[in-house]
Amino acid sequence: MSELVAGRIIRHAERLKLSHLTDTAEQLCQRADDAQLGYREFLDLVLDEEVAVRESRRFTNALKLSGLPHRKSLDEFDFAFQPDLDPRKIKDLAALTFIDAKANVCLLGPPGVGKTMLAVGLAIAACQAGYSIYFTTLDDLVRNLSDAEATGRFRKKLQTYLKPALLVVDEVGYLPLSRAEANMVFQLVSRRYEHGSMIWTSNKSFSEMAQVFGDDALTTAILDRLLHHAEIITINGPSYRLKDRTLTAEKGDRH
Ligand code: ADP
Ligand code: MG
Repeated sequence: MSELVAGRIIRHAERLKLSHLTDTAEQLCQRADDAQLGYREFLDLVLDEEVAVRESRRFTNALKLSGLPHRKSLDEFDFAFQPDLDPRKIKDLAALTFIDAKANVCLLGPPGVGKTMLAVGLAIAACQAGYSIYFTTLDDLVRNLSDAEATGRFRKKLQTYLKPALLVVDEVGYLPLSRAEANMVFQLVSRRYEHGSMIWTSNKSFSEMAQVFGDDALTTAILDRLLHHAEIITINGPSYRLKDRTLTAEKGDRH
């Protein structure tokens, strides 16, 4: 390749923001020579690598901004530990059709059964598939919205929770909300209703939600929209956090 052409390819690639091609034009040509690639194969190689690099950068950046508390994937979930949970239900959800259907998922159950881990795993799968995601606990959500309200930025802040295709709201029901906070949750749920998916995790049953939102009518209004299109998974099983303690106790028992 003449110096002139080589330089122009890099300048054009840079201008078109094809960063991988900018960095590797010479090596790509060398590889095409070595493997005696045809024109189509070469174009395919160049575009394929550019897309792969771009996609992996998007995924990394999106995960960084997602608010996820960790990066454990669904593959790491030990279904054998939670025999009452049907793995097929999670696998069906991992196909992510609920996001296209703007439907919700509620993961209910006592502490330690893996609600947060499953929500995170589904969110990572969604992010990998190109959906925008955001993770928050309910407490952080209402605190952020209340702070924004106090400084006249409520509408803008609400957008953070409205924009993503999938919003995870973790730990619903740990603390009861004030009337104003419950109203914010209602606004969020009604604005996302049939527009975007949510995954809610909670240690409370739906019948206990009135204690969280403080008011029967408001609770009904929230649950009505949340549950109209929703998959509800209740995990009634042992706490994974206590797993090692249980094993140690069992070992101890045997002696
Ligand atoms: P919850 O949100 O229901 O309280 P978490 O998802 O936070 O529970 O799970 C508690 C801890 O145990 C986390 O570190 C999680 O990754 C792990 N964990 C829970 N269930 C499983 C499981 N079935 N397989 C592997 N790790 C699990
Ligand atoms: Mg949790």
